[in-house]
Amino acid sequence: MLDSNTQAQLAAYFERISQPIELIASLDDSEGAQQIRELITEIAAIAPAKISARFDGSFERRPSFQITRVGHNMGVHFAAVPMGHEFTSLVLALLWAGGHPPKVEPEVIAQIKALDGDFAFETYMSLTCHNCPDVVQAMNLLAVFNPRIRAVAIDGGLFQDEVEAKQIMAVPSVVLNGASFGNGRMEVGEILAKIDTGAAKREAAKLNERAPYEVLIIGGGPAGAAAAVYAARKGIRTGIVAERFGGQTMDTLGIENFISVLETEGPKFAAALEAHVRHYGVDIITLQRVAKLEPAAVPGGYATV
Ligand SMILES: Cc1cc2nc3c(=O)[nH]c(=O)nc-3n(C[C@H](O)[C@H](O)[C@H](O)COP(=O)(O)OP(=O)(O)OC[C@H]3O[C@@H](n4cnc5c(N)ncnc54)[C@H](O)[C@@H]3O)c2cc1C
Repeated sequence: MLDSNTQAQLAAYFERISQPIELIASLDDSEGAQQIRELITEIAAIAPAKISARFDGSFERRPSFQITRVGHNMGVHFAAVPMGHEFTSLVLALLWAGGHPPKVEPEVIAQIKALDGDFAFETYMSLTCHNCPDVVQAMNLLAVFNPRIRAVAIDGGLFQDEVEAKQIMAVPSVVLNGASFGNGRMEVGEILAKIDTGAAKREAAKLNERAPYEVLIIGGGPAGAAAAVYAARKGIRTGIVAERFGGQTMDTLGIENFISVLETEGPKFAAALEAHVRHYGVDIITLQRVAKLEPAAVPGGYATV
């Protein structure tokens, strides 16, 4: 299943694994199960001192496999043969479970570890979906660092009856504890903001301590970013508050009508917007939803959001 080039690359990546991991398969007699067996056998053979494969799993969803550090019970599951776009998700999950640190801020890891509650995420995805890996990787990150978080990435192609029964029309589609959680691209910060309600309150309290802005723009899409650049360039103390910086462009794969740029991708475009806005010292506040706008009490006073 893995060609010699890929195996060599994986061998180099697996050098970074510092703690032994196990791949525990829960199989049936389907073709997908056969492929999972082949895949995890090949992966374990690349670094036998660090990775072992077992086929006696008792996970209710079959075929699937779990990735966990030996002696732990990390809730990282793939009900999929994670090749295609999900191959990176698989490699990252192996590395993180094996103790290699993810590229996220230490505060994010601390927040994940401190989450109080039981969260069972099911992420429906396809191996050709561009927005799916970000979501699968975010869920796996949560599951690696908090044993009360279980994350299973489900390839709709392997579980078609279920996808039809649940009327899943597009991927990624995330279910949390049996109820719909969200659709489309999501980053770990957005997921944390939704499930860690205490964090939103703590963050709001911190925001209330900030000095008022002369211009505070609600919305961090292209329109908000443009407004911020224009205001800040005039020397006005400017802030942006947005649920998600980049707005709809974060869900856009290819952009071909941004004049002077032949072709770009939504997240790349959003990153460029952010860099442009930050260049002018604009304060960007994300993961906050404005619920109310109160006009100034006196002429020339501050409005409150
Ligand atoms: C899949 C897809 C593909 C697209 N492809 C193209 C394309 O190729 N070319 C093209 O020109 N256009 C495309 N578009 C459309 C384009 O993305 C939008 O026209 C553009 O993003 C609109 O910019 P905006 O800043 O007005 O709003 P949005 O991008 O919608 O941004 C709204 C901002 O406001 C924030 N916000 C909203 N309510 C609140 C609140 N209460 N509190 C805090 N923040 C809030 C949001 O988080 C977000 O930051 C596409 C859109 C989609 C969904």
